[in-house]
Amino acid sequence: MFDLKQAVANAHFVTFLTGAGVSTASGIPDYRSKGGLYADLASPEEALSIENLQQHHLAFHDWVTKKMYYPDAKPNVIHEKMAQITNAKGAIVTQNVDGLHQRGGAKHVVEFHGNLYRIYCQTCGQQIDYQTYLQSDGHAEDGGIFRPDIVLYGEPIKPDVINAAVEAVAKADLLVVVGTSFQVYPFAGLLQMAQSDAVLAAVNREPISLPAGAHMVVGDATTVFAAL
Ligand SMILES: [Zn+2]
Repeated sequence: MFDLKQAVANAHFVTFLTGAGVSTASGIPDYRSKGGLYADLASPEEALSIENLQQHHLAFHDWVTKKMYYPDAKPNVIHEKMAQITNAKGAIVTQNVDGLHQRGGAKHVVEFHGNLYRIYCQTCGQQIDYQTYLQSDGHAEDGGIFRPDIVLYGEPIKPDVINAAVEAVAKADLLVVVGTSFQVYPFAGLLQMAQSDAVLAAVNREPISLPAGAHMVVGDATTVFAAL
């Protein structure tokens, strides 16, 4: 029987690969799941695409500000335990754009898809706080359009982000996938960069497909992490 607590204790470097399931306990709806954030949309890929931002920036702004910002969400026990573990010996690579890993105290976080709370003007690069962005996406000084620093459909991941993620995976002798179906590429492809003898585990409500030899922990991640 696989013991995650023992595996964490034994590991020299632990890298967590995290997705929406880590933030649902903080009240942020699960990306892609039934009843989740995009359930009422025929095509979320269109709403969150670079084309939509470029061609219909007001519709983009309206959708993003109504559906994606949960500024009152607080880090939960998963964020807190991961922060403790990785600040001592590890890293987190997350698909989440909510910033909750850092707010939970984690120091070694790679935000693979960016951060909703970092906003900049596409014309001049000036950064503003999200409260201002929630009111308007227009930059009065130069007529530019503000946007959140997240990776939209149709946009590549920045090379320095990929490099940091690959480094975090390649250094690990224990890799733990948490709260993601792990089907979105290139995120899921990061596992190919793991050491051949690294221990691989996943924590998720439902079993997910993993390479041979990986350990699947099926259950509520808040319960699993509270026990670590
Ligand atoms: Zn500007």
